[in-house]
Amino acid sequence: MNFNEKMFELGNHGSAIRELFEYGNKRRKIVGDENVFDFSIGNPSIPAPLIVNETIQKLLNEKDSVKLHGYTSAPGDIVVRSKIADYLNKTYNANVDKDRIYLTCGAAASLTISLNALLNPGDEVIVFAPFFPEYRVFIEKAGGKVIVVNEADDLTINFTDLNLKLSDKTKAVIIDSPNNPTGAVLKEDVIIKLSKLLKEKEKEYNHEIYLISDEPYREIIYDDIKYPFVTNYYDDSIICYSFSKSLSLPGERIGYIIVSSNMKDSLSLYKAICGSGRALGFVCAPALFQYLVGETIGHTSNINEYKKNRDYLYNALKDLGYTLVYPDGAFYLFMKALESDAEAFSRRALKYDLLLVPSDSFGVKGYVRLAYCVSYDMIKRSIDAFKKLKEDYDNEK
Ligand code: PLP
Repeated sequence: MNFNEKMFELGNHGSAIRELFEYGNKRRKIVGDENVFDFSIGNPSIPAPLIVNETIQKLLNEKDSVKLHGYTSAPGDIVVRSKIADYLNKTYNANVDKDRIYLTCGAAASLTISLNALLNPGDEVIVFAPFFPEYRVFIEKAGGKVIVVNEADDLTINFTDLNLKLSDKTKAVIIDSPNNPTGAVLKEDVIIKLSKLLKEKEKEYNHEIYLISDEPYREIIYDDIKYPFVTNYYDDSIICYSFSKSLSLPGERIGYIIVSSNMKDSLSLYKAICGSGRALGFVCAPALFQYLVGETIGHTSNINEYKKNRDYLYNALKDLGYTLVYPDGAFYLFMKALESDAEAFSRRALKYDLLLVPSDSFGVKGYVRLAYCVSYDMIKRSIDAFKKLKEDYDNEK
C-alpha cells in the first residue's frame, strides 16, 4: 500500500456509531421506517429555530453577494467574533477577547486545530472514560498519546485515577460537559476541584497543562443547572464550541475556538491556533454561517423537546427494570447492558430493531448509548421492543 495505512484503516472501518446508523438505513428499506428504533446517532431532531431561516433569507436579500460568499479573514469575520465575545461576556460574566476567537467548521475542527496547535510528538492528552471516540483519532493524528482515566462511580471524573495518570508529559486534559455519551454535566464544584489539581500539577512539573473544554452541548442542559464557564476558573483553558447541536446545524459546519485571555501566553497560543488552522486547511469557516451565527447568537432550538424525550424514555426504561445514568444534559442516555458484553447486547437488541451503540468505543464496558434526539413518537413506539428485549434476558434466568 503506497499511501497512509493509518488513514486507510480509519476510512475502512467507520465508527461504531456510523456503522449502526448505516445498518438502520438498510433495515428501514426492509421493515419500514416506523419499525426501526434508531438510537444510534447524535443528529439533532429538533429543527433550527425560525430565526435561522429568516436570517439566512435576510442575508441573501440584503448583503452584497460577493461579500456574503467571499473569504473572510482566516480566523473569521471580526464583527462576528465581537458579537460572540460580547454575548459570552454578558451571559457568563467572562473575559473572552474577540482576538482570541477562531471560527471553525464545528467542534471536530475546533478540537483538531487546538490539538495540533498544542502537541509535540509524545505529549500526553488525558481523556475521561467514557469519552467521545473521535478524541483518540484527533489526538493520535496530532502526534499525541491518549491517556485514559478510568471511569468514576458516577461516570464523571475519577480524581484518584486522574492524580495517578497526570505526569510530566501531560500537555492537555479534555473535558466534555454536558457529556457524550452519559449526559452528565460537570457542576461548579467539580470544575473548581479539577482546576485546583491542574494548577498544583502545573507548579510541580513547571509547565502548562491545558484544559480543553469540548462544549457542543453547552446549552442543552435541563432542570436549571448553572453552566460553569471554564475560562472563569482555569487560566490555561481552551474552549471548543460548535453550533451543530444548540442551533441544530450539524451539516453546516460552524463553531469556534476560544483561547482564554487570562492565559500567560495567550497571544502565542492563539497564533499557534491560527498556524494550525492554516496547516490543516481550516481557514475561513463557511462565510454565510459565520454571519448567521453573529446575527442569531444566544438563540437555540427548542431544548424543551429533548427534555420531554429524556423524561419519557428515562422513566419508561426505569419502569421496565433497566439501569440508567440520569442525564442532566446533552441528548444521550447511558444504559447498563443486560449482559457484560455490550457488543453482544447491542447485537441482540437488533433482533427487535433497536439500534443501541455499545459503550466499548467510548472506553468503558457494559453499557449502551441511546441518542434520544429522535421523534417523541419513535420513542413511544420503541418501548415495546425494549420490553421484549428485557423479557428475552429474563427468560434465560
Ligand atoms: N465533541 C462531541 C462530544 C460530540 O458529541 C461531537 C459530535 O457529535 C463533536 C465533538 C463534533 O461536533 P461537530 O459536528 O460540531 O464537529
